[in-house]
Amino acid sequence: MSITNATTIDEALAALAVNPKARVIQGGTDLMVEVNFNRTTIDSVVSLRRVAELRRWHVDDDAHTLRIGAGVPYAEMERPPLCDHAPALAEAARTVGSPQIRAAGSLGGNLGTCSPAGDGLPVLSALDAVVHLRSQSASRDVSVHDFMVGVKRNVRRADELIVAVTVPLVTGFQGYAKVGTRNAMVISAASACLVHDAVAGTVRLALGAVAPTVVRARGAEAWLASQTSLVGTPMVSEALAREFGARAAAECSPIDDHRSTAEYRRHAISVLAQRLLLRAATGSATALRGIRQ
Ligand SMILES: Cc1cc2nc3c(=O)[nH]c(=O)nc-3n(C[C@H](O)[C@H](O)[C@H](O)COP(=O)(O)OP(=O)(O)OC[C@H]3O[C@@H](n4cnc5c(N)ncnc54)[C@H](O)[C@@H]3O)c2cc1C
Repeated sequence: MSITNATTIDEALAALAVNPKARVIQGGTDLMVEVNFNRTTIDSVVSLRRVAELRRWHVDDDAHTLRIGAGVPYAEMERPPLCDHAPALAEAARTVGSPQIRAAGSLGGNLGTCSPAGDGLPVLSALDAVVHLRSQSASRDVSVHDFMVGVKRNVRRADELIVAVTVPLVTGFQGYAKVGTRNAMVISAASACLVHDAVAGTVRLALGAVAPTVVRARGAEAWLASQTSLVGTPMVSEALAREFGARAAAECSPIDDHRSTAEYRRHAISVLAQRLLLRAATGSATALRGIRQ
């Protein structure tokens, strides 16, 4: 097997331009599982581990945005100072695998794999993130909604690298919650991210593991906006939150599989969406409890 240990983005792109069949590896926490279970074979690899540019993040105070390099590990997202700029991303990062997985795994890898259960993806969706892609000859920016096209499928071309994502800095509550078969080291059976922009007066809700890609509950978002002012702290009754959850659940298209049933997934989404909205209204910290049928 040929291995290119790139030290710059340009070096990695040059290697991909010569051999677009080469597989890119960052933390290896998805790719090496595929290899170990004989689900994929690899002839050549472009390793990004030593590319320092991919591990940087940057706040643009003028544009009110946060740009996160594709190789920044979850372990950095979950801690200050990065966690202060994107709290929902930090919350999602804290739920990923184990400390070892979080030390190696990255958003670039989560986007590269593009599983609907990937914990970073509902956050990127709720924040309307932009994915920055680069090849040797061109760069392009793709909305995260257009980037994800199916189960483990995305629009990245073989000669492209995901170099970074940009998300807005939002004033207001943002939170992430997931359910699985246990409390730790678990892939989501259902997940949700809610972002309340208290200045623009919007609530955005993204759902994970309940459709071929992460989806936005745009019907529930619009319904909520028609019911109450979302500028400043929203006034949310239990009944309003329950109806919001029910509408969100109606927008997903879950399946039965080894992790859960479609029915439980739908129920879980209604509860997660309801709780996240109540947290937005009270500004309360994470309170993840079990969800009973
Ligand atoms: C024990 C275990 C527990 C896990 N738990 C969770 C969990 O709770 N939640 C969760 O979401 N995931 C989980 N995962 C999956 C995995 O950790 C994440 O998806 C992680 O984000 C992958 O990042 P990585 O850098 O390791 O990706 P890699 O394995 O290096 O790459 C994954 C894919 O993305 C491509 N890729 C990587 N970087 C780039 C780039 N810059 N440009 C283009 N393509 C790229 C690779 O070619 C490959 O196809 C778990 C994995 C394991 C082994």
